[in-house]
Amino acid sequence: MSQAACLFCRIITRQVPAEIVGETEGLLAIKDNNPQAPTHLLIMPTEHIPTLADTTEQHASLWGRIVQLANRLAQHHRLLPEGYRLVINCGPNAGQSVWHLHVHLLGGRPLQWPPG
Ligand code: 5GP
Ligand code: ZN
Repeated sequence: MSQAACLFCRIITRQVPAEIVGETEGLLAIKDNNPQAPTHLLIMPTEHIPTLADTTEQHASLWGRIVQLANRLAQHHRLLPEGYRLVINCGPNAGQSVWHLHVHLLGGRPLQWPPG
């Protein structure tokens, strides 16, 4: 899929509206529009990377920034000390539906394990 057709690239360039909850160097965080928990956020790189499997060692610092932003958002949304979960669906078997790398941040209720 071209970047022009990518839903999350269009959210990043503000061509498609979304509720933005965080923005930092190379990252955007939005509310999921079909939330699966009281707090359900999506953290994505502004760079178009289709899946987790497309990342390389060049993205090492990106992961550090994603995890830091996740923790900051979790604090801001009062998910601590109860806790929260980060999820990355990579590929069809994992149920990935938007082909622009994103990390789900879920919290605000007890979460089941294992996931379906
Ligand atoms: P995936 O299934 O690829 O891991 O997750 C994609 C997520 O994006 C889903 O949780 C879905 O609800 C969310 N999503 C899909 N389209 C939109 C949209 O247009 N806006 C927002 N905010 N979230 C979306
Ligand atoms: Zn994209």
